[in-house]
Amino acid sequence: MADPQLPDAPLLGQALPVELMNTFWSDRHGVHDSLGSLGDARRWVTAVSPRLDAPVRGTADALDDGGLGRLRDLRDAVRRIAAERTGDPREQARSPMADLGRAVQTVNDSARLAQIRPMLELTEGGGLVGLPETTGAPDALFISAIAGEAIELFGPWDDLDLRACLAPGCVLYFIKDHPRREWCSNGCGNRARAARHYARHGRVDEAE
Ligand SMILES: [Zn+2]
Repeated sequence: MADPQLPDAPLLGQALPVELMNTFWSDRHGVHDSLGSLGDARRWVTAVSPRLDAPVRGTADALDDGGLGRLRDLRDAVRRIAAERTGDPREQARSPMADLGRAVQTVNDSARLAQIRPMLELTEGGGLVGLPETTGAPDALFISAIAGEAIELFGPWDDLDLRACLAPGCVLYFIKDHPRREWCSNGCGNRARAARHYARHGRVDEAE
């Protein structure tokens, strides 16, 4: 049985904006949205927030309906930009945010929601320490941090080796971090090879 503490979305160890894209995912039952409810979204935020800087961690409980709406908008925006970059032909993976300009604006607006900056503070011993100062609500901080990573990811546009996984039924994206990597996961690779085998077998039968 699935662990109720863990998100349903597949976490592939990719950059966080890619993991955010992949909160829209599929299995043999169809497509699923791991940001579909506040409970699901909080599980996802809890799972990925340890990868962010200290002030942004532990923000899952702060996520409310407004924050969930903004996180979903950011997700739809990064999916729209990913579709542009990858020439994504997958009908079932299409982002509801059709306009590319709006997607870019959404990423930028998300980045502006909150801020972390280092500040100097005097210690009791008379020394100094640099500590992060944050502005914005905790969930805004989380959304802003992922938007910042998305800007870093998409910024070097021509060098970005992002791919849409073209295994049957898959709606995920991945960064091609190895020259032979063709699929988001081994599972998709196996299914794609099986489908190719089946297609070849079918053609052989027709020829007989
Ligand atoms: Zn896949």
